[in-house]
Amino acid sequence: MDGTLVSTKKSKLIAEMASRVMPGGVNSPVRAFKSVEGTPRIIGRGEGEFLFDVDGNKYIDFCCSWGPLILGHGDPTVVEAVKKQIDIGMTFGATTELEVKLAEFIVGTIEPVELIRFVSSGTEAVMSAIRVARGFTGRDMILKFDGCYHGHVDHMLVSAGSGLATFGQPSSAGVPESFTKNTVVLPLDDEEALEKFFEEHGDKLAAAIIEGIPANNGLLIQRHDYMRLLRSLTEKHGALLILDEVITGFRLGLNGAAAYYGLTPDLLTYGKIIGGGMPVGAFGGRADIMNQLSPLGPVYQAGTLSGNPVAMAAGLATLGKLADGKIYMELEEKNRRFVSRLMSELGDLDINIAGVGSIYWIVFQNELPRAASGISADGISHYNRMHQRVLDAGVYIPPSGYEVCFMSAAHTEESLDHAASVLINEIKQEAHKWE
Ligand SMILES: *Cc1c(COP(=O)(O)O)cnc(C)c1O
Repeated sequence: MDGTLVSTKKSKLIAEMASRVMPGGVNSPVRAFKSVEGTPRIIGRGEGEFLFDVDGNKYIDFCCSWGPLILGHGDPTVVEAVKKQIDIGMTFGATTELEVKLAEFIVGTIEPVELIRFVSSGTEAVMSAIRVARGFTGRDMILKFDGCYHGHVDHMLVSAGSGLATFGQPSSAGVPESFTKNTVVLPLDDEEALEKFFEEHGDKLAAAIIEGIPANNGLLIQRHDYMRLLRSLTEKHGALLILDEVITGFRLGLNGAAAYYGLTPDLLTYGKIIGGGMPVGAFGGRADIMNQLSPLGPVYQAGTLSGNPVAMAAGLATLGKLADGKIYMELEEKNRRFVSRLMSELGDLDINIAGVGSIYWIVFQNELPRAASGISADGISHYNRMHQRVLDAGVYIPPSGYEVCFMSAAHTEESLDHAASVLINEIKQEAHKWE
């Protein structure tokens, strides 16, 4: 790998064609590279820790499909499991043994998950978890936190209003205010705001939802005390705690963020890794809550492709490889070494790298923020300006400074060494333009 870019001719051509048939040329907005310069690379294939675009350029991939690919691209065990299932059927709309096995694995691994139901995306998992929380408690109000992303379900597309415990405003056109009027948004990392909210509204709250470790708007690692306070306040007021582990589930070790914080949530949501690269989501938790779901209870929820056998096969193969915990130890060690090398070579610049498990986040500011308001917009624009050069040097980092980077089991020391040199070089160049 010499890091020289061949050409982006074909990518440009296909991106141009894409924009004529799909809004913005994409099926998910961040892929359009709007925050950064340059054309999005159209991807041809992936192999291990590498992405190859249609022009034949090779990149070390730290996006990993936004988290699912913890084993890297084309893991042989996962590929074989998928092929085997495709040969005997892609979907039946009836229960298969595979989904029972995946459910057994997750229920057997994650203590707070007594029952689980599979869906087809993280968005759907969150939407359904909230519905069952409302059905169970008979309450409507939901508490979410500024800087946490829970998919694109209407009543989660809410931004904080002014003041502390104000009801949220829709953050997207097309979401009626009547859909978000039961969603309250609070800042992260703020005990006082939490206590005040629960004092005033706690007894009307159906559930508080929070990301395992907020990783969709920077990496905002929360303090244990703060998470424990959220748990105890929800419990005290008869509200449920939904831990959204769509990113952190089976990424932050086998037991996710619940174990990281020593928390017992009432409901948990999953996606990304549990589908091994196929479209999957799941929600689960306490049996008395989950039993409110149709066909046992009054809370309706369904899906044509839910528990899809090909996705279940990919998920099962992925989790099977993770089951003994070795990969997590290796990943954490790799990530720790990578982050500390960057920090030791960049230590005197105004930059920081947050790292947890196999996730890292580059931020052009001195202090690591714990709340969305602590993220410097200036810092983000430095990342965005650097992005194109990093990409051209053969390192695929996400096309927005608010997005985090993921490591996979496939990332070798050699690739990580190369990527570290590229990042150190580009970060230095960018940081020197700082003043
Ligand atoms: C990705 C993500 C979602 C949404 O999942 P999709 O599969 O994209 O619908 C929800 N919550 C969190 C924490 C996520 O990271």
